[in-house]
Amino acid sequence: MEVCDRCADIDGCPVDTQRQEGVTLIGVAECNGTLALEHYRCDECQAVIARRFMGDTEERIWSVIEGGQRPPLPHCSA
Ligand SMILES: [Zn+2]
Repeated sequence: MEVCDRCADIDGCPVDTQRQEGVTLIGVAECNGTLALEHYRCDECQAVIARRFMGDTEERIWSVIEGGQRPPLPHCSA
């Protein structure tokens, strides 16, 4: 699956990177009332992008999900 340059750029960026333009929020997941994950769809290339707020530092990143599959929910330890 081809993704646009903006998706390629955001992939792997820290979760505190802001990207609101050109993407549509399509869903959120919470874990015990804490925001765990956001899903966006790119308006340009239709890629699904996950923004993950939980886990280790290297896991709290934006990740482009090829093929439009939903990512697994982060492990909820509580
Ligand atoms: Zn895109």
